[in-house]
Amino acid sequence: MSRPTHAVVMGGGLAGMLTAHVLARHAGSVTVVERDVLPDGPEHRRGVPQAHHAHLLWSNGARVIDELLPGTTGRLLGAGARRIGFQGDQVTLTVRGWQHRFPPTQFAILCTRPLLDWTIRDQVLSAGRISVHQGAEVVDLCGDGGRVTGVRVRDADSGETTTVEADLVADATGRASGLRHWLSSLGVAPPEKDVVDAGIGYATRLFAAPPGATTAFPAVNVGAFHREGEPGHFGVVYPVEGDRWLVTLSCTRGGTLPAHEDEFQAFAQTRLGHPLVADLIGSAEPLTPVFRSHSGANRRLYPERHDGWPEGLIVVGDSLTAFNPVYGHGMSAAARCAAALDRELASGGTTRRMQEAIGAAVDDPWILAASKDVGYVNCRIDATDPRLIGEHTVQQRRFADSIIDKSLGSPGVCEVVTDVISLSAGPAELGSSNFLALMAREKPYPKLTGPPLRSDELDIVRLRAYESVPTA
Ligand SMILES: Cc1cc2nc3c(=O)[nH]c(=O)nc-3n(C[C@H](O)[C@H](O)[C@H](O)COP(=O)(O)OP(=O)(O)OC[C@H]3O[C@@H](n4cnc5c(N)ncnc54)[C@H](O)[C@@H]3O)c2cc1C
Repeated sequence: MSRPTHAVVMGGGLAGMLTAHVLARHAGSVTVVERDVLPDGPEHRRGVPQAHHAHLLWSNGARVIDELLPGTTGRLLGAGARRIGFQGDQVTLTVRGWQHRFPPTQFAILCTRPLLDWTIRDQVLSAGRISVHQGAEVVDLCGDGGRVTGVRVRDADSGETTTVEADLVADATGRASGLRHWLSSLGVAPPEKDVVDAGIGYATRLFAAPPGATTAFPAVNVGAFHREGEPGHFGVVYPVEGDRWLVTLSCTRGGTLPAHEDEFQAFAQTRLGHPLVADLIGSAEPLTPVFRSHSGANRRLYPERHDGWPEGLIVVGDSLTAFNPVYGHGMSAAARCAAALDRELASGGTTRRMQEAIGAAVDDPWILAASKDVGYVNCRIDATDPRLIGEHTVQQRRFADSIIDKSLGSPGVCEVVTDVISLSAGPAELGSSNFLALMAREKPYPKLTGPPLRSDELDIVRLRAYESVPTA
């Protein structure tokens, strides 16, 4: 495709902003069309309801964002975000036991979504190269089955509908994208779709953290506690800016998510594999009500496989691939989409080439999340991806469990696994001969009998009844 004259990005969320940023490097002009009026600061807004819940930005996503927008993570840390070194700065319970806290080899950024979104939006828009048409909803695509030539936009105040012409349109409207409907009005069949839905639900509250806890106490993840045939239950305590803990409790289909304040503590106490989360929040002051979300299915579209895909239309972010949020991959995937688009635009790629590169960029997080979730009881699978269906998936899961088991106590294995879950290395790494040799060779530390917390950390949260467990 020759240099786009005018590009339109539908949706001004994280994927939309990063996409607009790279388009502004290559197109004559760029317009973002966003249904909400965007706040002038780190505030919640209607279009991103998931922003109430715990969000973790893995190191791969943070690095990609810093490459696209230098200084972003520095700004986040300056505003109170915490950089958590993995596995040193998080206490994690897996279905196989407690993870030893080895010296960090990867990291994640923890803060509230409003802070993260605002920081990225400000970085993207402050250069003044992008127009934002806000309070305006995309209601249709313009063009025909062969080519998209713009979008039809309805103003929220006046209800008036106008056309914005463009020779490249990017759909970044998220999980609830109207893409299927918009394609149908152009006479284009929907793209192939895979869905793996473990029925994950989230319930979240903010708490005031004890003094020092957001800087000197580790993040906590009591994860994936499930017995054979029972739903998974999870709980995280994440330090965020403003000396607060963002606490998210979650479960897969069949579990009962807390709806009210009084059920929150009880869930943490009785449903998780260990009472650490309950003990931490038991005496902490809650700052918000309970927010809930049921937007957790893994869903992937394959526009790159579509024979009759219109020229001038690409799909990115959650609109293309949405993930079970427990794995924390959605924002990194959005960043990878933008970086892939940047590379293709630089080499003058066609719409198909761009979409193929974007599809390849989301494949690692897709297979990591979807292949784990197919093992949950009551998971609904409507997929053709051969990696997700068939007898071999049972064997794959057993192998994955043996890797988790080994990584709990083996620093070398843990390093490779952390590279993969942080998206810094591909899952194929776990099948390499080097890794298999490491699995066989490395002698693990003894299993931990409780959360690996040091006595100075226990003092901060006043959990002196817990015994201090070595942190490796
Ligand atoms: C509960 C939960 C927890 C999560 N936790 C994590 C995590 O820990 N780590 C992680 O990396 N990811 C996480 N994610 C995923 C992450 O939230 C998304 O991947 C991320 O927000 C990028 O999404 P997006 O920009 O594609 O879409 P969205 O964030 O949904 O943004 C879409 C934008 O499009 C606008 N819009 C929608 N329709 C229209 C229209 N017709 N016209 C104009 N504008 C429109 C909306 O207002 C919004 O601004 C989580 C998701 C959920 C649901």
